Amino acid sequence: MKTKKKQIAILGSTGSIGTQALEVISEHPSLFEVEVLTANNNSSLLIEQAKKFKPNMVVITNKEKYEEVNSALFSLGIKVFAGEQSLEEVVEGENIDIVLTALVGYSGLKPTVRAIKAGKDIALANKETLVVAGDLITKLCQEHGVQIFPVDSEHSAIFQCLAGETYNPIEKIYLTASGGPFRGMKKAELSNIKKEQALKHPNWDMGDKITIDSASLMNKGLEVIEAKWLFGLKTHQIDVIVHPQSIIHSAVQFEDGSIKAQLGLPDMKLPIQYALGFPQRLQNNFTRFSFMDYPNLTFEKPDLETFKNLQLAYSAMEKGGNAPCILNAANEISVNAFLQDKIGFLNMSDLIADCMEKITFVPNPNLEDYVATNEATRILASELL
Ligand code: NDP
Ligand code: MG
Repeated sequence: MKTKKKQIAILGSTGSIGTQALEVISEHPSLFEVEVLTANNNSSLLIEQAKKFKPNMVVITNKEKYEEVNSALFSLGIKVFAGEQSLEEVVEGENIDIVLTALVGYSGLKPTVRAIKAGKDIALANKETLVVAGDLITKLCQEHGVQIFPVDSEHSAIFQCLAGETYNPIEKIYLTASGGPFRGMKKAELSNIKKEQALKHPNWDMGDKITIDSASLMNKGLEVIEAKWLFGLKTHQIDVIVHPQSIIHSAVQFEDGSIKAQLGLPDMKLPIQYALGFPQRLQNNFTRFSFMDYPNLTFEKPDLETFKNLQLAYSAMEKGGNAPCILNAANEISVNAFLQDKIGFLNMSDLIADCMEKITFVPNPNLEDYVATNEATRILASELL
């Protein structure tokens, strides 16, 4: 019997995750088909991708690029849309089976909400969506019978460790962190760090925003919050361990004390493929890990004193309500400012802490409250720069 191919919508197809997802898809043409591709600005790559993968629809968020994309794809019968609103509408397309959210930051929230309401499963790379509105997203998924397949490597590791453990509660999880390019450095050394240094991650090649987040440990903070919502955990059940080799992608400890971990070379194509192919493990020719190449796997405690962002994320998670949304918005503004040489590396944490103190706390936010909190925090953070 011929099985139906999985129809995939990729939000953010021109980014690091998006392009790697397309590599995975092109390796498995009998299983996957592309239904939607989207980009923010990169019209030339979007056009090239659309010509190769022949989606039904594409969206370019920047409206000024609409003519260019439409004139290139019109004759191929590919529908072209522009603007943020279109991003929210295309995810509802009836053919779509799964939406890969590979946008950066807050921009992923509304399209993800719409996709869930339309009953589409989510392959979630855009962790900020769960950070901003984890309770809302989790409730919507339950209401609409939607599953979230984690793409983030740590959460994919935990998800893989949980296979076959349906009735066994988690005692705790260990999220591993590479420690980034500045591991071991103290405040004095970090005060004059430039973006070029922060953009050099030792183990992973990723988009700029997540690379800066990794250097400041905010990425791990966002991942702690992401894990809370994905796996229904309390603060004391989530531990962060620095593991510079990035071979153990994370681990789960069960109530008998047994720990299961997932290992492999750092390569995002594996978690992307697991999320898209679940529950199947698909054959591939990715380079295999050799224990003998890594005789020393090492572990350290994170330095919360120097890298304040991780502690700020734990505090925001403990506080709940709109606190993680404030943390995320302030972080997005500070990362942009750092990338434009407007603030120093360590000032990012000060700005985030300031916003968390000053923005009004909302204990039980709805979608409108999150939108308003995000707006207000961005305005305040920009003023405080
Ligand atoms: P990139 O910056 O490489 O790509 C982002 C994609 O989203 C691009 O297609 C970009 O379009 C588009 N985009 C950016 N901003 C907007 C916007 N405001 N509206 C619409 N589209 C937008 O990011 P990554 O692929 O590195 O990361 C994507 C997500 O996945 C992030 O949430 C990140 O935290 C997460 N993630 C990434 C990992 C990685 O290895 N890269 C690992 C784990 C998680 P354009 O190209 O036109 O600018
Ligand atoms: Mg990760």
